[in-house]
Amino acid sequence: MMQRDLVVLRPEGLYCEAGGFFIDPWRPVDRAVITHAHADHARTGHRRYLAAGDAREVMHARLGRVSLRTLQWGESITQGDVRVSLFPAGHILGSAQVRIEHRGEVWVVSGDYKLEADPTCTPFEPVRCDTFITESTFGLPVYRWRPDAQTMAEIASWWAENAANGRASVLLCYALGKAQRIQAGLARAQALAGPIVVHGAVAAVNAAYRAAGVGLPETLGATDWRRAAGGDAPLVLAPPSAAGSPWLSRFGESSLAFASGWMRVRGARRRRALDRGFVLSDHADWPGLMQAIDASGARRVIVTHGFEAAIVRHLSERGIAAHALRTEFGGEAGAESDGEVPGEGGPEASPAPTLEGVAPLSLSAAPPAEFAASEDRPAAIPPAQAVTRRTS
Ligand SMILES: [Zn+2]
Ligand SMILES: [Zn+2]
Repeated sequence: MMQRDLVVLRPEGLYCEAGGFFIDPWRPVDRAVITHAHADHARTGHRRYLAAGDAREVMHARLGRVSLRTLQWGESITQGDVRVSLFPAGHILGSAQVRIEHRGEVWVVSGDYKLEADPTCTPFEPVRCDTFITESTFGLPVYRWRPDAQTMAEIASWWAENAANGRASVLLCYALGKAQRIQAGLARAQALAGPIVVHGAVAAVNAAYRAAGVGLPETLGATDWRRAAGGDAPLVLAPPSAAGSPWLSRFGESSLAFASGWMRVRGARRRRALDRGFVLSDHADWPGLMQAIDASGARRVIVTHGFEAAIVRHLSERGIAAHALRTEFGGEAGAESDGEVPGEGGPEASPAPTLEGVAPLSLSAAPPAEFAASEDRPAAIPPAQAVTRRTS
């Protein structure tokens, strides 16, 4: 029997007609189910929001006092003719996969997800379904992450080495999710080589994480740090848009690094005149995407935001019905998903990522501009010449 699709694309976003709600809509709607608090998925202007309980604090930090109902993991409610429940996506605190059941048919909209361990959020949980809607931010075989502990150790030794040389370690990272993962990861590895100083955008998210019960090491604001003036070279966590800003220049001689999955792209570090690039992503790598798709048991896979074509082709070759869906996730230029001031870093056209070890697949889905606020896009870092650099 031919059934109508449970989730379809409307101008406002992904829509579940039988349930009368949208999932992560990009235009204002009456009922929005939100997978997670990054700005390209959680936008302002909806009348009612539904999200995971773990997301409550970050949702309010991001959106203000919106009308928000939350569900515990696995708890289900009836919306219209469907049952809706949320399962952990492992992407950032409170990130959820949305399970929708209608007359025995199950769809899962997974939002953004990763399978790697992350001390700041509940691990990804596979959910069996008939149709799985997946992101594809890093959906090329070249994207394979190394174990988290290894990357944390690299960050720790970079920090220790800079500290030994009296230099600050400036680590650019997305303010929501990545910054907290790094803080918690370093604390867990007992690798704190001095004080951690955070940018205001990071501090605001830290407060929400702490209010939600996530353990983070002690951090200082820039002014507190100056006042304390202990002399220890700090680790400075700031959003990409802070590169080259007066806010950063106060730390004096420093080493500049960036933590992102995009650091896997050849030339990304050099192009931005970074001293170091740490490959650390809150999105699934290629094996992770395949593992999640397999674990869903889905007969049909719908691929959104990222390298849709590569995944669709790969799954089709494996006999799985797959197609791409054009969404507006990934944020249009200016989406402030890291709590950054829109436009702060300045939009910048940049070449498509250079991919090591892959035949040039259709790169039409390559993230187009390096202005971004979430990892859904390559990072916004002002051009090299705008970055204040040490001369040594
Ligand atoms: Zn996200
Ligand atoms: Zn996304």
